Amino acid sequence: MVTGGAGFLGSHLCTRLIADKRDVLCIDNLFTGSRNNIRALLESPYFEFQRHDVTFPLYVEVAQIYNLACPASPVHYQHDPVQTTKTSVHGAINMLGLAKRVKARILQASTSEVYGDPAVHPQTESYWGNVNPIGIRACYDEGKRCAETLFFDYHRQHALDIKVVRIFNTYGPRMHPNDGRVVSNFIVQALRGADITIFGDGQQTRSFCYVDDLVEAMVRMMATDRDFPGPVNIGNPGEYTMLQLAETVLRMTKSRARLVHKPLPSDDPKQRCPDITLARERLNWQPKVGLEDGLEPTIAYFRELLAA
Ligand code: NAD
Ligand code: UDP
Ligand code: UDP
Repeated sequence: MVTGGAGFLGSHLCTRLIADKRDVLCIDNLFTGSRNNIRALLESPYFEFQRHDVTFPLYVEVAQIYNLACPASPVHYQHDPVQTTKTSVHGAINMLGLAKRVKARILQASTSEVYGDPAVHPQTESYWGNVNPIGIRACYDEGKRCAETLFFDYHRQHALDIKVVRIFNTYGPRMHPNDGRVVSNFIVQALRGADITIFGDGQQTRSFCYVDDLVEAMVRMMATDRDFPGPVNIGNPGEYTMLQLAETVLRMTKSRARLVHKPLPSDDPKQRCPDITLARERLNWQPKVGLEDGLEPTIAYFRELLAA
């Protein structure tokens, strides 16, 4: 079962699991996901879609749960922040309750946002983070932190078989064109010849992982021994400033769009880069796709989408 399976990452994960001939139950309320993302999968005898909001109980029989349901872009998770926390926390409780009843292994899609605006760089799993609990990002950051707490308490208290991955910024085809994330924003703006919006001075950094690498790591984590619950960082350690990203996108799209500066949103982390030593050791994994190699199919996807 994949919750959030009609979203960006979830739909790629469903595709991968079906290619591995797994029976997939996709659960999604279609808040930020869409039927288009899973349209090709609906034909498959291995695939089933159920429209459902994970903040409500769910009774199904499954062997493994990937819990991805949660809006992920600041624009979407700040649209209805109370619902965002409910999705992370009530959603985790329901999915953990389900996992407990059917004795399923359950993986949580956590996030680098648990590190907040990090004082340790690059971020290792042992760092506890620097999150503003009352800021505009807290509904997401603290929701995800509380979900991790619930996962580890179900693990200790009920011997639940859990896996927690902390996902760093991931991009690729099927990102929502209007979700405000930086990769999709810059590509769409460049292709339209609209101004490229740099928030702040553009010196803040992020590390961008291509979706195929991310999915591979999630599947590997799900297959690890029971004695390894995580958390484990998954991301690409290549670190770029937003100005460098903008210049790369402009060059690759041959766009003449101008750079314009907009105010930096509050609590925007200044730097972010994963230490992936643990993933290398325990998952025998490291990303294979560099930034430009991943941007190419992503730009091609948005080119086609905008032409339609
Ligand atoms: P997304 O918005 O494309 O996908 C989230 C999916 O969850 C959507 O299909 C949405 O409709 C669904 N959803 C939201 N609330 C729901 C609810 N209450 N019940 C059922 N479904 C619900 O985002 P994404 O980038 O694919 O992210 C997937 C997961 O990975 C999220 O949990 C996110 O926090 C995590 N993550 C993503 C990134 C990234 O860079 N993409 C980074 C860190 C963590
Ligand atoms: N739950 C669910 N599906 C199940 C089993 C449980 O959605 O198959 C939900 C249920 O609504 C409950 C939550 O998961 O509120 C937590 O379940 P748990 O058994 O841990 O706690 P309890 O039922 O004792 O509150
Ligand atoms: N950003 C930007 N222009 C945009 C969208 C985002 O400069 O049009 C910046 C944003 O301020 C942040 C970085 O890009 O510093 C990554 O933003 P995103 O929303 O993609 O992810 P997150 O901040 O959650 O890592």
